[in-house]
Amino acid sequence: MTETSPFPPPRRDLCGAMQVHRRLLNESMTYRAQRQRIENRALMYETGRRSAARRGVVTFPVVVHVVYNDAGQNIDGAQIASQIDVLNRDYRAANPDVSKVPDVWRSLVVDNECQFALATTDPLGKPTDGIVRVKTDQTSFDANDGVKAAATGGSDPWPTDQYLNIWVCRLGGGLLGYAQFPGGPPQTDGVVILDTAFGTTGTAAPPYDGGRTATHEIGHWLDLFHIWGDDDGACTNDDRVADTPNQADSNTGKPKFPHVTCDNGPNGDMFVNYMDYVDDDTMFMFTKGQGERINACLDGPRASFVVAHQAAATPAPAAASAPGAKEPAGVPGQNGDVEKLLYDSERLTREVLTDIQNMLGLVGHGSGS
Ligand SMILES: [Zn+2]
Repeated sequence: MTETSPFPPPRRDLCGAMQVHRRLLNESMTYRAQRQRIENRALMYETGRRSAARRGVVTFPVVVHVVYNDAGQNIDGAQIASQIDVLNRDYRAANPDVSKVPDVWRSLVVDNECQFALATTDPLGKPTDGIVRVKTDQTSFDANDGVKAAATGGSDPWPTDQYLNIWVCRLGGGLLGYAQFPGGPPQTDGVVILDTAFGTTGTAAPPYDGGRTATHEIGHWLDLFHIWGDDDGACTNDDRVADTPNQADSNTGKPKFPHVTCDNGPNGDMFVNYMDYVDDDTMFMFTKGQGERINACLDGPRASFVVAHQAAATPAPAAASAPGAKEPAGVPGQNGDVEKLLYDSERLTREVLTDIQNMLGLVGHGSGS
């Protein structure tokens, strides 16, 4: 059985999301084209030329695939629930440790208005607890998506435009997890988390027992890049978010504030951001700029979740909910066809207009990128 080395190499890749991203860019023209569209849209939001169409909190129905080789990896329901709790705090800036954000960045902390709930209805419309358990012969998985298909010892996804699929399994090579960015193949869409880095109870092991690996990977799934821009210390690339400082490389462990790189003093790297590699108890925040990328994602490639949520949140005439009632959770919409059509047509119209604007912009600037 492959065990995670206690002596990791200096540049250990804790997250495989960029590896997946680069593989898909190489393999798939469709992915490259989709990513171009998604980046164009994100830039519009990031520069304030477009603002979020969605209103209020969106709840993502979650299915957790527990793919285990031995009994210890077959994590219990309490550990899974503890992970959902962390996500619901982190994506609402309701995590108690947000108070540890250095003062200089406090005004940038964002409530992303995203919530997560284990699915209560399965793809066939039957009641479910949102947990799928599969025993596998594989002693460990890598970032090549084997865990996402029954044919390769994993578990097939539930429809990825209706459910956030999370696979929990043993990962080799020091990986804590990986995610697929929006715009990738539907059959592999979702996030994968190391069993011992999932949740805060049970088998969750320090320093990754704060549930932040899933917070980080779902950040990628919602179109966030690593805060250092994956340029191996060059300071030439960033995360395409304006309010996060340019940063040389990933930070690990528990850095001391400030940690200055790339002439980003006096405040230095925003290593307390969920999209860095620091220990779970050292990351506390997303920024407003990252929130704009998430808004662009939820108005764009992941809009199906907003549509389903709105349909589910529309009260039936006989059961109108009181003001301030709890958001309904974990139920993809059953009666949202009209809403979906209206929403999609409005969105498509705006997309076509944006594409035309972008084309005119390209012609005007003579850019051939
Ligand atoms: Zn990552």
